Amino acid sequence: MRMILVGPPGAGKGTQAARLVETFNIPHISSGDMFRAEVKQGTELGKQLDHHMKLGGLVPDEVTIPIVLKRITQADTAAGFMLDGFPRTRPQAEALDKEMAKAGVALDAVVLIEVPDQLLEERAIHRRSDPQTGAIYHLKYNPPPAEIAGRLVHRSDDTKEAVDKRVAKYHAETAPIIPYYMEKGILKRVDGVGDPDVITERIKAVLND
Ligand code: AMP
Repeated sequence: MRMILVGPPGAGKGTQAARLVETFNIPHISSGDMFRAEVKQGTELGKQLDHHMKLGGLVPDEVTIPIVLKRITQADTAAGFMLDGFPRTRPQAEALDKEMAKAGVALDAVVLIEVPDQLLEERAIHRRSDPQTGAIYHLKYNPPPAEIAGRLVHRSDDTKEAVDKRVAKYHAETAPIIPYYMEKGILKRVDGVGDPDVITERIKAVLND
């Protein structure tokens, strides 16, 4: 299974990807997680990435594309992968197609998780993640167990200002990849509002269609 999860920031891509990779037994490849790991290491590349990410902007295609394409050619992706947060621009989508065609493989599905803009800010502001397990929580709707509360992190780009900018970027730069995948006949739309368990079932259902 080679698939992509697309959706605005706060749509639940990371939460759903973590659940789905267990079902499909494929690696979860999140460009955002890869970038945050690089920032944490404090490398020159990490500093460059941090500069773009902090304020809710996109990392330039010429930086993003080689990093992700290198990752999807590693041995653990032989049976497939779940991309989360990539592609985010039309040139990224085209570069991915080219790389996959070179390898003689193709995408099976692109799942678009749809959530209205007015819910996104609230979701991101209340989002916390556990650096030890990668689990993602919502302080109100999916609260973390009390014993791990002290180690949870709040992403530096989950502020109101940065989220608003990320949502605007999504509409301007990422939404154009939706018609691109529609034309290929592999786009599957899923309502991303509701209980995360229910949304996982919705995604599995469209993948089985
Ligand atoms: P995410 O964890 O997917 O929300 O990504 C966090 C941030 O990393 C984004 O707001 C961007 O600044 C950057 N980023 C992640 N993936 C990409 C991508 N495919 N293209 C450009 N920037 C990206």
